[in-house]
Amino acid sequence: METDIVIVGGGAIGSAVAAFTLAEPAFRGRVTVIERDPTYARASSALSASSIRQQFSTAINIAIGRFGIEYLRRAGNDLGFTERGYLFLASEAGVPALTCSHALQRSLGVDVALLDPPALRERFPWLATEGVALGSLGLAGEGWFDGHGLMQAFRRKARALGAAYVHAEAVGFDLRGDRVAAVRLADGRSLRADHVVNAAGPWAASVAAWAGVDLPVRARRRTVFVVECPTALARCPLVVDPSGLWFRPEGTRFITGLSPCEANDPDDAPLDPEHASFEPVLWPILAQRVPAFEALRVVGAWAGYYEVNTFDHNGIVGPHPRIANLVFANGFSGHGLQQSPAVGRGVAELLVHGRYTTLDLTPLAFDRIGRNQPVAELNVV
Ligand SMILES: Cc1cc2nc3c(=O)[nH]c(=O)nc-3n(C[C@H](O)[C@H](O)[C@H](O)COP(=O)(O)OP(=O)(O)OC[C@H]3O[C@@H](n4cnc5c(N)ncnc54)[C@H](O)[C@@H]3O)c2cc1C
Repeated sequence: METDIVIVGGGAIGSAVAAFTLAEPAFRGRVTVIERDPTYARASSALSASSIRQQFSTAINIAIGRFGIEYLRRAGNDLGFTERGYLFLASEAGVPALTCSHALQRSLGVDVALLDPPALRERFPWLATEGVALGSLGLAGEGWFDGHGLMQAFRRKARALGAAYVHAEAVGFDLRGDRVAAVRLADGRSLRADHVVNAAGPWAASVAAWAGVDLPVRARRRTVFVVECPTALARCPLVVDPSGLWFRPEGTRFITGLSPCEANDPDDAPLDPEHASFEPVLWPILAQRVPAFEALRVVGAWAGYYEVNTFDHNGIVGPHPRIANLVFANGFSGHGLQQSPAVGRGVAELLVHGRYTTLDLTPLAFDRIGRNQPVAELNVV
C-alpha cells in the first residue's frame, strides 16, 4: 500500500526529511511538502550562521554532528565547507564544564585539544586571553558552510526524487481519534495523510497546537552583525567567548552575535536586527578579546529566529507518544542546520521502517518532556 507523507515546512529540516525518505529503496508512496514561502525570507535555514561542530556536551549531539560533517565533506566544494574549527574559551568558572565535555568528546573520537592561555596566544597572536583560563579547539571536523545552499540542495534532491512542494499555508489538522487524518490548507484544500511531519521551525508550536499538543518551542530573535576589520586574523576559527559572544570569518569580513539573557528574550520579536545592542554590548566584548576589533566597522546585520526548545535546548525528534502518526523534528535551538542531515535521515528511517536503522535518535524523543527527563546540552551558542 502506498503511504502519504505530508511535511509541514520546507526548510532544511522538512526538505532533508523529504529527500531522505524518497531515497529509501523500501519507500512506496508520496511525499508532499507544504511551504508557505518559497522565497524563505523568514525561514531560519536562510538566516543562519551556518556553522557546524562536534563540541557538544551530549553524546547524541556529537554523533549527529559527526554525520553532518561526513555529509558536508561528501558534498565537496559545492557547499563551501570551510573546515577551520570552533574555539570555546572558558573562564575559571567554566573550566570544569569544558574539561568534562572534552573528556566525552575525546572518548567519542572527536579531534579536539585543550589549550592554556600561553598556548592560545602562541597559536592565535591576535587573541587577548584576559579572563580566559582554558580553551578548547576543534582540530578537524568543524567549521562553516553555505547553509542556504544546503537547504536548497535538499529541496532540489527531494523534488528530483518526486516530492511535491505545495505553495500554501497549512492552517489545521483533521483528527480521527488519536491520528491526524488530513492537513487543512488556507485555500480550503485538505491533504490526506498517513504520517504528518512537523518541520515548521520557529512556528512549530502552532502546528503542534492543532493536535492539542503543547510543544515547548518558541521563536526567539537572534541578530547577526557583519563587520570589517582592517587587520587580518590569521587562521581565525569560530570563537566562542566566555560571555557567550561568538565571531567567525566570513570571506574577508567577520560575522558575530550574542544571545540575549532569558529575561530579555521575548517570543516572536519582529525580525529587525537589534542594532542598538552592538555598540554598548557586543563591541566592548569583541575589542577586549581581539584588540584589533577596536577599529572594526559594522557593514550589515540581519535577524532570524532560533527555534528555542525551552525544556532543554535540544531537538525534539520522533512521534508524539499519543498521536503516533504525528512526527516532530523541532526545537533545535541554534544547531538545526548542521543537524538537518542526521535528522532528515533518522526521521526517514522512522517513516519507512518504523525504527532507526543507522544512528539511534531515541534520546531526542518527545516523551522525555512528559517524563521530565531533559537531555541538557551545555554548549548552546
Ligand atoms: C541567526 C541564526 C544563526 C544560526 N546559526 C546556526 C549555526 O551556525 N548552525 C546551525 O546548525 N544552526 C544555526 N541556526 C539554527 C538553524 O538555522 C535552524 O535550526 C534550522 O535552520 C531550522 O530549520 P527548519 O527547517 O526547522 O526551520 P526553517 O528553516 O525556519 O523552516 C521552516 C519552514 O516552515 C514554513 N512554515 C511554518 N509554518 C508553516 C505553515 N503553517 N504552513 C506552511 N509552511 C509553514 C516556514 O515558512 C519555513 O520555511 C541559526 C539560526 C539563526 C536564526
